[in-house]
Amino acid sequence: MSNLAISGGEKTISEVNEELFHWPIVTGEDIAAVTEVLKKGTMSGTDITKEFEKEYAGWNKTSYALGCCNGTAAITAAMWACGVGAGDEVICPSMTYWASCASALTLGATVNFADVDPATLCIDPKDIEHRIGPRTKAIIVVHYGAMPADMDAIMSIVRPYGVKVIEDNSHAQGSMYKRQMCGAIGDIAGASLMSGKAFAIGEAGIITTSNRQLFEQCVAFGHYERTGAPSRFNPVDAQVHLEDLTSFKGMPMGAVKHRMNQTCAAMGRVQLKYYPDRIAEIDKAMNYFADCLDQIPGLQVIRPIRDSGNSKGGWYFPLCHYNAEKIEDLNATKFAAAMIAEGIYCLSGANTPLHLHNYFHHADIFNQGKPTALAFGQRDVRQGPGTLPVTEKVKETVIMLPWFKHFDKAVIDKYVEGYHKVVDGAKEIINV
Ligand SMILES: *Cc1c(COP(=O)(O)O)cnc(C)c1O
Repeated sequence: MSNLAISGGEKTISEVNEELFHWPIVTGEDIAAVTEVLKKGTMSGTDITKEFEKEYAGWNKTSYALGCCNGTAAITAAMWACGVGAGDEVICPSMTYWASCASALTLGATVNFADVDPATLCIDPKDIEHRIGPRTKAIIVVHYGAMPADMDAIMSIVRPYGVKVIEDNSHAQGSMYKRQMCGAIGDIAGASLMSGKAFAIGEAGIITTSNRQLFEQCVAFGHYERTGAPSRFNPVDAQVHLEDLTSFKGMPMGAVKHRMNQTCAAMGRVQLKYYPDRIAEIDKAMNYFADCLDQIPGLQVIRPIRDSGNSKGGWYFPLCHYNAEKIEDLNATKFAAAMIAEGIYCLSGANTPLHLHNYFHHADIFNQGKPTALAFGQRDVRQGPGTLPVTEKVKETVIMLPWFKHFDKAVIDKYVEGYHKVVDGAKEIINV
């Protein structure tokens, strides 16, 4: 009889130390900042948001930042700013959250999905060029699970075609690519700042760019009052000129309202002050955890090479390669079940591949009696099963890891014991 928890033995982690995982860290300073907004009744204002934008842009090393109501809105506006419209195409990895690209369809465009690099789970530079067509306007690059994508390779492939590069920085606030900040490398970036992300301030998102024209287009898309129509809450934003759009002032070109709630902006200003130190501690804890897991045959944490100039910022969504062949052919699903039984958070796979989803194949958003993916374009770029082999295998080749926010060696060592226990008991688990 083994002592595996899945066979009735004692759990490795009998009581989870919530403090080590709790996020975001909220102090009296956050609460005071949010309360101030509530007391003043300026939730719909933009004065604090504009301060937050300046500070965020300064930290992220871009000329501009634009606060939005969420990441989905930020990415939609970025796509529109890059000229994505009816009949156009964008390229996007299939291994990501739907908001990276789903709104291409609401702009009348469609998505040509690319496979990911098995080492990083970011878009594979080798699977991009052949997807570029005459209507390809933008590529959306996701720094997946906070891993910086290979931006140099991607930019040099798409530049000659005039394809704009949009970074989806929702996982990677603070990640570095060759010592540059993610979110400041492509033409423009959109990021989620929702409660579950590394930079977590509620239902909020942000656009970062150093391109004035793209910034102003994003303002025009979803921030009507900043293009020239003052309201009770918002004076005209003198920063925004929009020479070619002045006749539309006071109306959002997207017919949407992307303004950030100022309670979020107020919290964001406080969070930003402490963010670099907090993610440095996460990086220390997760790298120590990864050093231990990498000793176990069959496991290899997805992270950049040390001292390469690349880093994983706040380590949102930590992932680990899982090689069943080295673990007695125990499949990732059963491995995860055994880990959960030990009291250790684990799931097999990552996001569900998007290229197979019904939405991208059949959704008829404009009531035209045909799939929107085909409705305006000249070619059908939809893809069936088997077309993106790396992405489709992720459910068997990757597991999700616990996300430590603090470095506590003794606790992390205890977690590592659980992995050893389950790997050593693999043969038995197969028969459970
Ligand atoms: C969370 C997320 C988004 C969407 O952001 P919201 O703030 O939830 O709208 C977009 N892309 C990725 C990769 C995400 O993880």
